[in-house]
Amino acid sequence: MRRSVPVFAAIFLFMASALFAALSRPIASYNLKARLNPDEKKVAGSEVLTWLNDSDLPVSELLFHLYLNAFKNSRTTFMKESRGSSRGFKAGQDNWGFITVERIRIQDGDDLTPSLAFLQPDDGNADDQTVMKVDLPAPLPPGEKIVVEIEFTSKLPKVFARSGFSGDFFMVGQWFPKIGVFQSGAWNCHQYHASSEFFADYGTYHVEITAPEKFVVGATGKRTGETKNADGTKTYIHDQEDVHDFAWTACPDFVEFRETYVLDEPSVKTEMILLVHRSHVKQKDRYAQALRNGLEFYSQSYGPYPYETITLVDPAPGAMGAGGMEYPTLFTAGTSVWMPRGVRFPEMVTIHEFGHGYWYGMVGSNEFEEAWLDEGINTYSEIKAMSKYYGEDRSMIDFAGLKIGSVAYNRMSVIGSGRFDPILKKSWEYISGGSYALNVYAKAGLMLLTLEKWLGEEVMSRLMKTYFEQWKFRHPISQDFIRVAEEVSGKDLGWFFSQVLHSPDRLDYAVSGLKAEEIAAGEGLFDVRTIEPPPKEPDAGSRPEGVLKAYRNEITVARYGEWIFPQEILIVFDDGEKVRESWDGKDRWTRFVYQKTAKVVSAEIDPEHKMVLDANYANNSRVLELKRPAVVKAALGFMAWVQGFLSLISF
Ligand SMILES: [Zn+2]
Repeated sequence: MRRSVPVFAAIFLFMASALFAALSRPIASYNLKARLNPDEKKVAGSEVLTWLNDSDLPVSELLFHLYLNAFKNSRTTFMKESRGSSRGFKAGQDNWGFITVERIRIQDGDDLTPSLAFLQPDDGNADDQTVMKVDLPAPLPPGEKIVVEIEFTSKLPKVFARSGFSGDFFMVGQWFPKIGVFQSGAWNCHQYHASSEFFADYGTYHVEITAPEKFVVGATGKRTGETKNADGTKTYIHDQEDVHDFAWTACPDFVEFRETYVLDEPSVKTEMILLVHRSHVKQKDRYAQALRNGLEFYSQSYGPYPYETITLVDPAPGAMGAGGMEYPTLFTAGTSVWMPRGVRFPEMVTIHEFGHGYWYGMVGSNEFEEAWLDEGINTYSEIKAMSKYYGEDRSMIDFAGLKIGSVAYNRMSVIGSGRFDPILKKSWEYISGGSYALNVYAKAGLMLLTLEKWLGEEVMSRLMKTYFEQWKFRHPISQDFIRVAEEVSGKDLGWFFSQVLHSPDRLDYAVSGLKAEEIAAGEGLFDVRTIEPPPKEPDAGSRPEGVLKAYRNEITVARYGEWIFPQEILIVFDDGEKVRESWDGKDRWTRFVYQKTAKVVSAEIDPEHKMVLDANYANNSRVLELKRPAVVKAALGFMAWVQGFLSLISF
């Protein structure tokens, strides 16, 4: 809706927001009350929503997400797409989740409940109740606000996908009726899908959470009040501006750690709140250090972390389905009781989920429609942060002699993957959850890393800072990222993004042939006896007198993938000479021929490994007279084993 705001308007908005000390334009603000009934696994809720019609059209109906209805039965769109499992966790038989809207009305006005209907804008599945519509008695004019009151009950599912309970651990996310985004004259309010996260407008949240006293409670935003109630419960008040969602957690087994994090350049001061399950308390320092690293890296690389709190939630054992998930100013990490120091899964998840605070939280990307803008940019950021703090070649695994860096880890999921989907696609239209994940996470992350190596680190750093600065607290689309990339780099990058974002193919360049043939004295009759053509001896002194062999050296490079990218080739001769060639990479192959007294010994395409997207590094180089196949086979077998091992512990 506001994606084409011209520069002066952006400046005005920026100044206006500075004036009112708000970072975002509040469109959807909530007053929520939640009371946890831990025995019934229910939350009794009430909501007062203030919604601004920020469009230039009247709005005559309101659309809401009722995400928890995804867990209502086996025929919801989420359950059909996921077949009842997500990230390796299964839905429980009798532990369905749902949300019931008991009443919805305009404050001091009409009851809208009779008009309540469910919509299925994405797939027409009549069993799906994750999008609710109510009709307004009169259209809401542009620029006007409406206040709506809702009474609702949320029944949490046994956790297997983000939200729910496990024993008395509760992760309460996507738990209240949440208004969609009115954009470009229509509601953007998708159903809850197996491979999709979320999209919402910014606002201010005031939330009162009531739970039995024994529970340790954590939530989005800063705690502004806490009262003991006569019935053995406690009420916690949380307030937060400039966010587009609110999540909370409760568990009697959390151990709470607090630490004030301070950074001088840029200036950051925030309260780190760690809610660590008591069975994982020994790993508290690993989480804390990873979070400090994340705060420093993202603040310095993109922009200072602006919120007063950041809460890390460590899910209970058995509740890993809630792990690895981001919410504004709060995220869930994850570990297991046995986690060797060199297996940096808790660190990776902490940095990744914290990082979403930037690319999903502050930059309001639409994860339904263009998930790479969040997951891909965040995977790129995570790779850079992990490499910086834990070592480029060992940032993921440094255990029992095995070292795997973040780049290699992400490359592993792209190598050998099917060519079914491009990076840019609606998240429920991929052939499988696996294809969604490898495209929007790994492939998109490696795309940006390839871009960085090609443009140079300094240009890329300015590009990312500019993109964050221009699009924070707004809703960018892919074209906005490309425009910033082109403006900052001063290069046309359409050819790059149109291949990598829109086509399901791959990048794979290779040295396909290497030959050095002695040029024999010709056979037959010659007027002058000579070898052909006369070789140019660059350093005659280094060769024995009188021996002047010449070689025809052929180096053939090939493009096995569909994506085209300019290439460099490094060729090494047996006299030590190194030659660098460039190739526009457009044809299927090209050949470089040298007639020299030296023999070629090796050739390598993309010798600096700038093309981290290259699907197969093993064919990038050739060495003459080396029996490679067995070596390569063994290496690939080992990589496959590593990948299998990692898939057991990661999501
Ligand atoms: Zn993510």
